[in-house]
Amino acid sequence: MINLVLFGKPGAGKGTQANFLKEKYNLKHISTGDVFRYNIKNGTELGTLAKSYIDKGDLVPDEVTIDMLKAEVEKNPEANGFIFDGFPRTNAQAEALDELMTEKNMKIHATIALEADDEVLIKRLLERGKVSGRSDDQDENKIRNRFEEYNEKTAPLMQYYKEQGKFHSVNGIGSIEEITERLSKVIAAL
Ligand code: AMP
Repeated sequence: MINLVLFGKPGAGKGTQANFLKEKYNLKHISTGDVFRYNIKNGTELGTLAKSYIDKGDLVPDEVTIDMLKAEVEKNPEANGFIFDGFPRTNAQAEALDELMTEKNMKIHATIALEADDEVLIKRLLERGKVSGRSDDQDENKIRNRFEEYNEKTAPLMQYYKEQGKFHSVNGIGSIEEITERLSKVIAAL
C-alpha cells in the first residue's frame, strides 16, 4: 500500500498529476476541492456551507473538512492506497490525517510538492477559469487570497513533513508527461 500527499499551491497541477498517478499505481484519488464542488453542485448541506468559503477563496473550516475527508477514506476500505490532493492544508488537518492513518494501520509514505512561481500559477488559473467556469479561478483577487491562505496556513506543513522525513518536491513547470516522470522517480525511490 502506498499513500501520497500531493502538495502545492492552487494551479500547481495536483489534480492533473493525481489523475495520472492514480492509474499508474492503482490508487484512490481524493481531492477535497472536488468533493466540495460535487456537494455544491448537488445542493447538499455540506455544499452550501463550503460554498461561502470557496467563493471568497478562503479555506473551509477544519472540522468540516476533516470529517468529510475521513468519510471519503472510509468509503474506500478496499483501496490499494490513496492520493490526497488538496488535503491537508492546515496543521490541524495534517495531525488529523496522521491520527486517521494510525487508527487504520496505515501511514503517509510521502508528501510531494509541485513547485511553480506565483505569476505562472495565476496565468494558469485564469486560463483554467475560462474553461472550467470555476468562479474562484476567474477573479485575480480571489486567486491572490487563495495564495495568502496557502502561505499562511499550508506552507508551514512543509516543515511538518520534513520533520517526519517525508517531504519531497519536484519542479512543476514542464509538460504533463515530464512532471509525471519526475513524480514517478520520487515514488520509485520510496
Ligand atoms: P482546490 O480544488 O483544491 O483548489 O480547492 C478549492 C477550494 O476548496 C479551496 O480554495 C478551499 O476553499 C476549499 N478546500 C479544498 N480543500 C480544502 C482543505 N483541505 N481545507 C480547507 N478548504 C479546502
